[in-house]
Amino acid sequence: MTGLVRIDGSMGEGGGQVLRTALALSLTTRRPVEVTRIRAGRTKPGLMRQHLTAVQAAAAVGSGHVTGAEIGSTSLRFEPGTIRSGAFEFSVGTAGSTTLVLQTILPALLTAGGPSSVRLRGGTHNPMAPPFDFLVKAFLPLLGRMGARVEAELVRPGFYPAGGGECLVTVRPVPRLAPLELLARGEVRRRRARAVVSKLSREIATRELSIVSRLLGWEAECLEAVSVDSAGPGNVLSLEMASDGLTELFTGFGERGVSAEAVAERVAREVRGYLASGVPVGEHLADQLLLPMALAGSGAFLTAPLSRHATTNIQVVQAFLPVRFDVEADEKGNCVVRVMK
Ligand code: AMP
Repeated sequence: MTGLVRIDGSMGEGGGQVLRTALALSLTTRRPVEVTRIRAGRTKPGLMRQHLTAVQAAAAVGSGHVTGAEIGSTSLRFEPGTIRSGAFEFSVGTAGSTTLVLQTILPALLTAGGPSSVRLRGGTHNPMAPPFDFLVKAFLPLLGRMGARVEAELVRPGFYPAGGGECLVTVRPVPRLAPLELLARGEVRRRRARAVVSKLSREIATRELSIVSRLLGWEAECLEAVSVDSAGPGNVLSLEMASDGLTELFTGFGERGVSAEAVAERVAREVRGYLASGVPVGEHLADQLLLPMALAGSGAFLTAPLSRHATTNIQVVQAFLPVRFDVEADEKGNCVVRVMK
């Protein structure tokens, strides 16, 4: 497959993910892409600061030529050149998500001619984005099983709205990602609940943990309350489960006007749903595994009913790569997703 790929940015879920997946695949396939109607259905359509940083990062890593890279722009054309390796630094400004910028350039850096380091500044723990801990505990170890050596270090956490976080990611390229199968979860071997606060009372963290203990029955040695120093206030509760098959991590974010108990109840419910479903791959891992599995050319995973993020990502991936996703649902709606050429 060669030539320009045209992507309607409003397709399916219609958010920033469409743009990021399109850029990531334009870089790895070396195919130019035109994305129109970017985030058309959102209240503030077009490129926001965080998306613009992702575009700039893609251009830097891929020696790319871009038109339409401005705040508010609803269409963009990106022509990738040679993939570079080396030291990169990107600032998302304020609290824009650093991990979403990484999502855009990581597949390309894995195919580069040499190792890279990427310093990212902005938010490291943002709602609606992979939190740093999810990246390190859940996503990167699976990429590791596909042969990718990616390490991430949290220099300083950054929470919405103050931001000011920083992380450093080192990437060693692989000639080709290996296929991965995640069809069984197996026994849960280790549980860990980590409640983090910055510039807020530590009591928020302990209240969240007592809800986790009450609703999920997790024992005291699994619970950890931590105060960290960030540019502004923040609270995040991460529930991590290491099973035979993989590690999953679910996150709750403290918000003004929402009690610590409500934050913890929400994420505990999510964990209960995950445990009851019996599937290994949770909602967010599902949409994030599609791209690396497609690059590997084969692989499969079992997950709960697919989110719109996942079905949209499937469409975008198929526009670039000669792969097919076969989705087979059982009577409960759980799905085996298979990638094949
Ligand atoms: P978008 O909403 O289009 O900007 O895409 C958001 C991305 O962040 C998707 O890849 C989601 O899977 C991911 N994401 C959102 N919330 C979480 C979470 N709590 N844990 C892990 N990943 C997340």
